[in-house]
Amino acid sequence: MTWSEAEGARRAREVFARELGGAPEGVWSAPGRVNLIGEHTDYNSGLALPIALPHRTFAALRRREDGRIRVVSAQRPGEPIEAMLAELAPPSTFGWAGYVLGVAWSLREAGLLSAGFDLALDSCVPVGAGLSSSAALECAMAVGLAGHAPTDVLIPACVRAENDFVGAPTGAMDQTVSLRAQAGHALLIDFADGSLEQIPFTAELLVIDTRAEHALADGEYARRRAECARAAELAGVATLRELTTVPADPVLAARARHVASENARVLEFAAELRGPAPALPRLGALLNASHDSLRDDFEVSCRELDVAVDAARAAGAYGARMTGGGFGGSAIALVEPGAAAVVRAEVAEAFRRAGLGAPTFSTAVASSGALTE
Ligand code: ADP
Ligand code: MG
Repeated sequence: MTWSEAEGARRAREVFARELGGAPEGVWSAPGRVNLIGEHTDYNSGLALPIALPHRTFAALRRREDGRIRVVSAQRPGEPIEAMLAELAPPSTFGWAGYVLGVAWSLREAGLLSAGFDLALDSCVPVGAGLSSSAALECAMAVGLAGHAPTDVLIPACVRAENDFVGAPTGAMDQTVSLRAQAGHALLIDFADGSLEQIPFTAELLVIDTRAEHALADGEYARRRAECARAAELAGVATLRELTTVPADPVLAARARHVASENARVLEFAAELRGPAPALPRLGALLNASHDSLRDDFEVSCRELDVAVDAARAAGAYGARMTGGGFGGSAIALVEPGAAAVVRAEVAEAFRRAGLGAPTFSTAVASSGALTE
């Protein structure tokens, strides 16, 4: 279920009035994302091809004169979380509000924020489902507070909130697409030089939220990053993008193999999309190869994701893969227009047979980022 811009703004204003009092100066919004292909490549100076979701987070904002910050969220009911802008410093001790205060901190550090604010959030991005509710939150409030700043300043500011304030070691893909996506397009991101290309993408994707939350996720994500950094270091290169030799260690070799093969798949996928008539079977085969590589070489899949992907393929999807960091979260399936209902039913049945809790489904079309209508 997604909200229109008007519906989201109405809801955020309502939360603001009820919990903080009065009216905001305005409401800003930013989307979640699914990554079509190019996973665990962003922190390796690689390539990724995400789309923005029609699901958005809405930030109702009012600046204050006194340097105080007050934050509420419809997704985390309770008293407003309060802090003073000048006193913010990592590591976060603010729970969910660490993402908000992290953005305030990084904007302050970048010289883009000197006043406090009142903020009310509401969102139709599923939280913690691998669809990047965190970047949607960060980007919605960042454009509200500092939307005049160039995106090559805003993106790293939002990334720092997550990496340095909250302590989640994620790459820059989510914030880049949440800010810069265009409706009807996938965004090809080259993290080696930050270059972006908008490529028409009009297919509808089935998104399968496995509802699996893995406690180890953060530690495992950090470990994969460290393994990639180690493989590059041993070869004497700055990042895996420049790696030309195979690491001697078999685990590091497998990690490097995933990153290199995934970068190649992104290029093939993008080339297919740029062509006169993108072939869904070809795109599907690349999705399948991406999942298999993430499962076998990078080892970031999990039982729920594999059940979802296997069932979607068996039900006739052109291809399916986990999307996002892995260890739970969501999978995507590319299906024939009109065939989504069959795939949904088969995936739900496979979860029942496997004794897993019911997954939830949504469809995604490429939507607009925070800064591009
Ligand atoms: P994802 O980004 O895939 O949804 P993350 O673990 O990166 O998952 O981010 C989820 C976290 O972000 C939540 O646990 C919460 O702390 C914060 N968050 C995201 N959206 C909201 C929201 N609307 N209200 C409050 N907190 C939110
Ligand atoms: Mg996130």
